[in-house]
Amino acid sequence: MKLLEGRLINVSNRLPVEIKHRSGHLRQSASAGGLASALDNIWRHQHGLWIGWAGPVDAEAATPLLQKAARGRPYSLRAVPLSSQEPSRCNFDPEYWEVYQRVNRKFAQTTAENVTGKDFIWAHDYHLMLMGHYLRETGCTTPTGFFLHIPFPGPDIFEKLPWRKNILRCLLGYDLLGFQTDRDRFNFLSCVERILPGASSERQHVQHIVTCDNHKTKIATFPISIAFEEFANHAASHDVEAAAHQLRRELSNNFMLLGVDRMDYTKGIPERLKAFRILLRRYPEIRHRITFVLVVVPSREDIKEYKALRREVELLVSQINGEFTDAGWVPIHYIHRNLTRKQLLSYYRAADIGLITSLKDGMNLVAKEFCAAQVDEQGVVIVSEFAGAAAELRHGALVVNPNDLAGVAEAIHRACVMPVEEKRARMKLLRDVVRTYNVQGWAESFLEAALSTDKVAPSASTPEGTDFPLVASSTGQDQRIA
Ligand code: UDP
Repeated sequence: MKLLEGRLINVSNRLPVEIKHRSGHLRQSASAGGLASALDNIWRHQHGLWIGWAGPVDAEAATPLLQKAARGRPYSLRAVPLSSQEPSRCNFDPEYWEVYQRVNRKFAQTTAENVTGKDFIWAHDYHLMLMGHYLRETGCTTPTGFFLHIPFPGPDIFEKLPWRKNILRCLLGYDLLGFQTDRDRFNFLSCVERILPGASSERQHVQHIVTCDNHKTKIATFPISIAFEEFANHAASHDVEAAAHQLRRELSNNFMLLGVDRMDYTKGIPERLKAFRILLRRYPEIRHRITFVLVVVPSREDIKEYKALRREVELLVSQINGEFTDAGWVPIHYIHRNLTRKQLLSYYRAADIGLITSLKDGMNLVAKEFCAAQVDEQGVVIVSEFAGAAAELRHGALVVNPNDLAGVAEAIHRACVMPVEEKRARMKLLRDVVRTYNVQGWAESFLEAALSTDKVAPSASTPEGTDFPLVASSTGQDQRIA
């Protein structure tokens, strides 16, 4: 990526490395955040600076370790000094508004001290919605962009916030705002129209320009993606192929239905389990022939709502297994831990159906990774209409409403009986979409949009005229489990 004259200044809540006290010494480890590791991957060839929180240590004391961590990277690392209370409070809770503002000011201050006018500042995610405005207050004239990795709500939800005006005006302090889907972008524009009557908006090609407080902000859609070739090549490797074979053998070559998520209430895991129970009740002939592998990665385990979710999920798994398990067949294989990349790819490759039922999701990279790993082009994707990924994948996937449990059960059944030619045609289409607009394309189109003086690079396109019917056809000759 060589679009910039100056450096890329990446600003995110967390740095890709975390510094912690361990056994009386400061130690560094890879950061736990998925966003940080994804961005670390993209910036492997990009010179610049990454600014973020380094962990629960003094920012000065962390500097030597950050310098050491930067040796293997093309960019340097700079820590924002936050008190031990501030990072956990960097969220959207009403009580924390003061802290949220203070943290954003600290990020703006550290960033302003470390940039030149030729650089480009790219800020990431909801933690930093105010920073663009604060940067401008410091007199910093370096161009700025902000990408929101999570969904943006419609006005009826957003206007409940007491600070709705401040947030929108501060967001419009950035020069470019990027959203995952057109739905998020139009939600944002509707909020601006309703809440900031002084702002004006005009459409220019595929972007909007909003003018507020005499400042123009470009608004566009950039669906985030994955390193397609890396996933596809690794999935095609002998190692992964052998491990996938082994998995299939161990599951008696049953249909493998796969779910992979963080343990999070947005992912619709209980709903998915209930849909699977409906499937087994409605279609007794499918029992013994399908195995649901449910991979759930531990997440935010210290929060009580997440603990309650885990209990709910584990109760459902044991109830369903209790109801249906029979000699030689356990319907749900539940895995509650982090998988290695090789294990994850083996499951992706071995699976017949990737089931994504998020109640709400910015993108859902698992859906795209599943497609990349389907090197045999035979897997079926079932995706929630409320996952950002559905916008791009809708032509090849079966799209479901995750709240319609019977509808999800029918979609699973349809995937089980789908003729091989249809599966191949759908998966080919899906892989073409993900291959064409990979994560590098995402980063480049954002930078091009930020740096171009006229129009924005187009966001991901989906093939036209290739729609498949989304509703299962009535029972026919080929409606059997292949
Ligand atoms: N993932 C992982 N370890 C696992 C299973 C999944 O690191 O054991 C990764 C997966 O490869 C994907 C990410 O977790 O890149 C999940 O991203 P997604 O956008 O689907 O959901 P998020 O967790 O960001 O809400």
